Amino acid sequence: MQPIENIYPLLAQPRKCTIVMHQKPDADAMGSSLALKHFLESFGHKVNVISPTNWAAWLDWMPGAKEVVDYEKNRSIAEPKLDETEWLFCLDFNALHRTKQMEKKLQSLNCTKILIDHHREPQKEIFEYGISDTVKSSTCQMIYDLIVGSGNPDKITIEIAECIYAGVIGDTGSFRFPSTHAEVHKLVAHLMERGLEHSHVHDKLFDNFLENRLRFTGHVLLNRMEVFYEYNTVLIAVPKADVLKYYIKTGDTEGLVNYPQSIQGIKLVALCIDRDEERKWSFRSKGDFDCNSFARKYFDGGGHFAAAGGRSTDSLDETVRKFKLVIKENKELLQ
Ligand code: 5GP
Ligand code: MN
Repeated sequence: MQPIENIYPLLAQPRKCTIVMHQKPDADAMGSSLALKHFLESFGHKVNVISPTNWAAWLDWMPGAKEVVDYEKNRSIAEPKLDETEWLFCLDFNALHRTKQMEKKLQSLNCTKILIDHHREPQKEIFEYGISDTVKSSTCQMIYDLIVGSGNPDKITIEIAECIYAGVIGDTGSFRFPSTHAEVHKLVAHLMERGLEHSHVHDKLFDNFLENRLRFTGHVLLNRMEVFYEYNTVLIAVPKADVLKYYIKTGDTEGLVNYPQSIQGIKLVALCIDRDEERKWSFRSKGDFDCNSFARKYFDGGGHFAAAGGRSTDSLDETVRKFKLVIKENKELLQ
């Protein structure tokens, strides 16, 4: 994989570009993809953005979100766009299996593939150009770096600033995680100089839900949360019946895994949601417990040191039983 800087001299020549992100994109995946789309379009590139699946309704306000194609729902529209692509940008994921049903299609493409991502253990061999940097707070920060690094800070519009800011606050937990280095605050200051109204973005991201979501959160914290003080671990397991009863949609469970981190002394929080096709795990840690290794080893997943995800095709009861066994196995690491 050649360094991303090697594409800077090539930016001036318009191409057919497609930007793809991981399934069920979050604010960082969607924000970085749309920020890059607006930036590339300013050079005259023809840019399509494709998501492998649907996304949370609370991302729809992002400038450009209306034109994003849902591959799962609109494969016949997405595939011809992929077929004509010259440059394929892969943002906020680093292994093709994270695009689910789109994986096979992406593998079959002969175009130039470019990686911009901050997760661990990238599939570097499949990309011609790219950057994989786990120190970066977010992929949105990396898009900002690309815009400024390629000598184009004047191309940061309010649309681009809003998209980048949304991903940065999403992935830094509103500037609280250790990944929030000085560069992140400097970036935000620059976005504000370019016209960003930050409280508008906070409103759109955090004060933009329906009543059922808050009721669901209350129910789950009261009735589905188990605390294992011996292992400094909290588990929330959400059965399908709760998802149905509270009309929970894509994105409604985002942020749920963060609540138990407010309990004194907790090192690991695990959230498991019973979805149609699989049981989806989210892990968050504080201190020296490595969620990425844990998710990889036991739950077919991965991610970052302090935040990772995984999955299981076992029943909810079965995968929860396994979790309780493996935290015992990891007791030393959880002290
Ligand atoms: P979340 O718990 O918010 O779904 O994910 C936490 C972090 O881990 C995110 O950066 C996400 O991209 C990553 N992640 C989530 N699920 C998986 C997975 O199944 N495999 C890998 N490699 N990363 C994941
Ligand atoms: Mn990210």
